[in-house]
Amino acid sequence: MSVLSVRNLETFYGAIMALRGVSIDVEEGEIVTILGANGAGKTTLMKTIAGLMDPEKGVISFHGENTAHLEPDRIVAKGISLVPEGREVFPYLTIEENLRLGAFTRRGSAAADLDLVFQYFPILKERRRQPAGFLSGGEQQMLAIGRGLMARPKLMMLDEPSLGLSPRLTQEIFAIIARLNSEQGVTMLLVEQNAHIALETAHKGYVLEMGRIVMAGPTERLKASDDIQEFYLGRS
Ligand code: ATP
Repeated sequence: MSVLSVRNLETFYGAIMALRGVSIDVEEGEIVTILGANGAGKTTLMKTIAGLMDPEKGVISFHGENTAHLEPDRIVAKGISLVPEGREVFPYLTIEENLRLGAFTRRGSAAADLDLVFQYFPILKERRRQPAGFLSGGEQQMLAIGRGLMARPKLMMLDEPSLGLSPRLTQEIFAIIARLNSEQGVTMLLVEQNAHIALETAHKGYVLEMGRIVMAGPTERLKASDDIQEFYLGRS
């Protein structure tokens, strides 16, 4: 059974129809990527799944339960966490306080989860008592992913993790994303402008254009497609 199954999702901004009947499936243990140009609707799709936008139509089924129209905190509690574009860490709180906020929907100690985050992001452990505002862009991205992990998600959604990062840091972040998936079994839905790295990291991909899925398949097959090579990988 799919972890996440989205069917015929329609989401509007006023009169603007941003999602025009989107259907996707994410299986347990997969990394699934959504490719698409600016304005295609990628962020809207993630926000709708996370409950930050209310769809007009469609079904969002998470482990078989329809979560469309639930409040965002209920959706987090069910196991979906979103690492938003732009990261949105709290600059005046320490790194550790930011991380602990990620566990707010759970009862009990967060110590084991902190250890897990520090294992993947040792820099956050070293600097855990410093305000998050002192971190570099790459470190803030690490903190945002770490905060998402603190909720022990069954599905982690990442919106543009490479935004504003150097190629070296982008490689580093994606290597950690791949390890979290293979070592911890975290299922991921990944939105990324950098199609090269997204197709290298993910198992399956969808191409979203103007609010519609126009192509889907295993990333090996997408990489071989002439259209993907021409429009997303910059080869002619
Ligand atoms: P980007 O990579 O630029 O974030 P995206 O694929 O994530 O692009 P969305 O941000 O989901 O695209 O936007 C989808 C469509 O909805 C676009 O046409 C956009 O102009 C429109 N849109 C997004 N946010 C708003 C808003 N707050 N009010 C009105 N229209 C919006």
